[in-house]
Amino acid sequence: MIGVFGGSGFYSLIEKHETKEVSTPFGTPSSPLNFGDIYGKKVYFMARHGDGHALPPHKIPYKANLWAMKQCGVKRILAPAAVGSLKHDIKPGTFVIPDQLINFTSGRDDTYYGGMNELPDLSQVTHVSMAEPYCPKLSDILGETFKELDMPFRMGGTIIVIQGPRFATKAESGFYQKHGDVINMTQYPECVLARELEMCYANISLVTDYDAGLGIHRAVSADEVLRVFKENNEKLKQIILTAIGKVDYDDCKCMHALEGARF
Ligand SMILES: [Zn+2]
Repeated sequence: MIGVFGGSGFYSLIEKHETKEVSTPFGTPSSPLNFGDIYGKKVYFMARHGDGHALPPHKIPYKANLWAMKQCGVKRILAPAAVGSLKHDIKPGTFVIPDQLINFTSGRDDTYYGGMNELPDLSQVTHVSMAEPYCPKLSDILGETFKELDMPFRMGGTIIVIQGPRFATKAESGFYQKHGDVINMTQYPECVLARELEMCYANISLVTDYDAGLGIHRAVSADEVLRVFKENNEKLKQIILTAIGKVDYDDCKCMHALEGARF
């Protein structure tokens, strides 16, 4: 089973779907799950920011969202997101499949393994590897999908994740430009929590703006993010639907992330 998190400007995927309300030990997810069949595969879709974009990035119930997917039997997650560019040559409208992440968020509830005694499986001290934060198999499938559809994309890159909801200052953005390629507010801890639950997770970043302007461009605004996202929404859906049809593997190292992760 495959899960898809829709980000800013992306609120539906499956045409003929049923809806399922899920409750979790970590609270209510952002929205009910829509599920249906795509190319004979069962797919679950959730709007990350809730229906009508009610939740800011720092208030998203990430743990409930990932747990809900896991509870439904999801093993692989495709997670599109709107991002800002930190490089002049990564223009708005470009798609990037990142392979690294740097977390600059703070205070987010970012682990299931915090000694939760009422769920014995989660009470053990657990250190999952995040050396490769994104699933290489799913990311490769996304890359093949872009090639098949003849759509330009960039394979690999580092995504900087900031707390938000405000955008970065020019000075902060200058600092991030030295360390990353694109910038976003929701990839952390979503990506980490998927790993802790042994699910494959890959991101498709849609570049909507030049962050704080990179010195020569206009600085990002929420209007601009939504405008560029809307322009590219159909392309993004086509990529995700095609990629779902290409997911053909049963096993991956992400699905064994807890092996050797415990003392
Ligand atoms: Zn994987």
